[in-house]
Amino acid sequence: MQKKKTKMSTRYKDIAGQRFGKLVAEEYVGKNEHNFALWRCKCDCGNTAIVTGSSLRSGTTKSCGCLRERNITGQRFGRLVAIKKVGKNAHRYNLWLCECDCGNTAEVATSALIGGHTQSCGCLMRETASKTMTTHGRTNERLHVLWREIKQRCSNPNNISYKYYGGRGVTVCEEWADNYMAFREWAYSNGYDEYAKRGDCTIDRIDVNGNYEPSNCRWVDMKTQIRNQRPRKKGYKRGAYNKHKDITSS
Ligand SMILES: [Zn+2]
Ligand SMILES: [Zn+2]
Repeated sequence: MQKKKTKMSTRYKDIAGQRFGKLVAEEYVGKNEHNFALWRCKCDCGNTAIVTGSSLRSGTTKSCGCLRERNITGQRFGRLVAIKKVGKNAHRYNLWLCECDCGNTAEVATSALIGGHTQSCGCLMRETASKTMTTHGRTNERLHVLWREIKQRCSNPNNISYKYYGGRGVTVCEEWADNYMAFREWAYSNGYDEYAKRGDCTIDRIDVNGNYEPSNCRWVDMKTQIRNQRPRKKGYKRGAYNKHKDITSS
């Protein structure tokens, strides 16, 4: 029994040469007081560390400590710049207060920054997601056609309707101009009906001289919209203007 126990205590799993994060196990150097095998490891940063084989294999220890303690003040990671240490996360990594290019701040762990997992306050992901949604199957929908048309008539002097919109100073708010998904979200939560018949669901500017923006737009049928037309000039034929109304189906 005694003999067997002694034999057990000298056994260890050979991990010489194996890499664990930034550490490479170099040499078995004996056991600690809990009978765990200890390995001398070389860290990528140049330091040497003595680490138990079990904490290496379980992924608990991935560096000599440099990863956790690295000072990254002022360093940039994607859109984020680390400002100051603000604490530790559950895995004992430092948390950094970061400033994002968009103006927001975020608290991010050193490991997420260095590993490249986190590159913004979240704005990058939101943008990518909305771009992806726009380009994946939404560019052909009726509402997207209307969105493009609205932007064209407000900003492209060559557009046939420009003189009634952009030419009169009508603009599309930034929120909508840059982001179809924002326009789409507004539309669906304010009565837009994608199955409406032509003329039954048109975008109407409440103030006819106002812009395309959430506070000045609503979905109405064509009759309501015609009632809301800007006063016609003398000689302006009824119907001529209607051609340039915001018909969702084109
Ligand atoms: Zn190190
Ligand atoms: Zn941001």
